[in-house]
Amino acid sequence: MICRSGRAAEPPSRKNIPGAWMLFCATMFSGFLPAWGEEMPSTGNPPFVQLLRKARAAVPKELPTRDRPASYHGCPVDVTLTGGVLRGGVTLQKLVEGKAQGTYSAAAVSNGPSGRPEVLGARRIREIALPGARPFLVYQAKSNALTIAPDAGAAKGKNKLPGAKSSVRWPELSERQQYAAVLEEKNLLQEIDREVPNAGMKLYETRRFIFYSDIPERWIATLYAPYLDQMYGKLCQAYGLDPQQNLWRGKAVILAYQNPASFTIFETKLFHFERPSAQGAAHCLSDGTVLIACYAGRDPHYFGAVLVHETAHGFTHRFCSPRRIPSWLNEGISEWIAKQVVPQDQGINRKVQRAVQRMRESGSLGGDFFTAEHIGDWQYGAAASMVDFLLRSPGASRRGKSAVPFHQFVELIKDGVPWEESLQRAYGMTPAELTWNFGKSLGIPNLRP
Ligand SMILES: [Zn+2]
Repeated sequence: MICRSGRAAEPPSRKNIPGAWMLFCATMFSGFLPAWGEEMPSTGNPPFVQLLRKARAAVPKELPTRDRPASYHGCPVDVTLTGGVLRGGVTLQKLVEGKAQGTYSAAAVSNGPSGRPEVLGARRIREIALPGARPFLVYQAKSNALTIAPDAGAAKGKNKLPGAKSSVRWPELSERQQYAAVLEEKNLLQEIDREVPNAGMKLYETRRFIFYSDIPERWIATLYAPYLDQMYGKLCQAYGLDPQQNLWRGKAVILAYQNPASFTIFETKLFHFERPSAQGAAHCLSDGTVLIACYAGRDPHYFGAVLVHETAHGFTHRFCSPRRIPSWLNEGISEWIAKQVVPQDQGINRKVQRAVQRMRESGSLGGDFFTAEHIGDWQYGAAASMVDFLLRSPGASRRGKSAVPFHQFVELIKDGVPWEESLQRAYGMTPAELTWNFGKSLGIPNLRP
């Protein structure tokens, strides 16, 4: 897949509805077509922002609180069972009080607010969380009961790294903020439904994703949802994050249509984006919302790679801060992870092979590889290989954790350190040295940028 990203036009806002600033990554239907992407208009809000305003206004003001555990009754929750299985998006009907004060011996949950309740004994439950938030109830073996977990509240953001110019890191959200964000996302999907009617759409919820789709359920359950879960775990590893933590604001929303018609209506009507050949788009908003819109087409593995590639752009957007990273690195990470998660898609392998061939013939990455606002089509394969090379390379310091320097490299850039300096600090290399070493690893001597 081939895509290009737009640029940031407005600084992030913690409380305002996002403006027109969004990273846009349009993915081509075919990996073999010439690349062309699109930047979002930098002025004026697309109609989508109006829907987001409505969705936000419809979130109830009264949200549950740990002071009154009964206030969680009737809320959608994610229940993690002892074996690690997740029951996502079920409704918590009732907590059954235990012998000791502040403990609960069971929880009655149902599929949807009016579903038949099923009583889960405390022993079967590891934890219960509002969607997107930290668990509010955890199992305690000592008392053989569920107990209310202390609310960490809105944690302070990590300080910027030494040498960083400035840091506008994403704020860590409290339970109530995360819960409100998920409610808002579900309201938003209802608003989108009014604009893009499609009778077959169904909502699926996993721990980190809201999947809204008319694709047959078996594909979502056996392919696409597992792809995204794998992507989340592997990117957490690459970025040095704890996979138990929620990186998203709420959850990442995946709007996946079966056919191109609904996707085209969505993009043209709500974003004024008219690109009939695009198969997916990552809408990364300045308030932290990530919405991936796409359609499945005919090749499930190709679509899987599109989905992972686009969602990875959302992940990178949410890593540390909204600051943009160079195009080669951004696209390289998305291509690399798509290749890791969907090895069945041969398109990425072919792109890598073609890029290697071209580098061998020309002895160069193309001249503009490191500086291009959007790297060219053939450079996607080179970018994916270079990210792979960086992930396998030792760091400038071989002591302790910095022996895995990739996340340090990206983190420094996200904190405002120029990427060349970040490279030097994390890997002890200049861009020319990186190119030379990368070329050597491919058997291409004296490769130039
Ligand atoms: Zn991309």
